[in-house]
Amino acid sequence: MNLDRRTANVQYPMVHSMSASSPSQSYQASCHCGLIRYTVVLSPPLHDMQSWVVECNCSICARNGYLNVYVQNQCIQFQTVGLDSNLVEKYRFGKQRVQHYFCSRCGSSLMAESIEPGFYEGVKALNVRMFQGVDLNNLQRRQIDGRSL
Ligand SMILES: [Zn+2]
Repeated sequence: MNLDRRTANVQYPMVHSMSASSPSQSYQASCHCGLIRYTVVLSPPLHDMQSWVVECNCSICARNGYLNVYVQNQCIQFQTVGLDSNLVEKYRFGKQRVQHYFCSRCGSSLMAESIEPGFYEGVKALNVRMFQGVDLNNLQRRQIDGRSL
């Protein structure tokens, strides 16, 4: 078994969805200042052998150090404010397909989602660096070539 957690490349990310049949785990996440908090249920859990997070080389992920998991919207429950709040800043660039969200107070890079119909609709890319109690060094990582998308 290949246990090298750094080298795998992948073209399409795995999307977590609500599943009654497989194991899941709930995570608490927040920006640095706590203004934006949410819980997310991941199936499989982050430390499952089937699970991995995505490092992307696009211009914004490279700058912000995103480590992403992709989840269906229904896996996420916002606890303080939603993304439509003016406490959450929005940012788009380039082809304008993807909107990024960050905290207006502390600047934490929270998540991103496609705003183009039919392109990863109903899915969010969550930055697992916002998750509490997760050892980032123990996660399997895969690289995607977002720069060429
Ligand atoms: Zn904040």
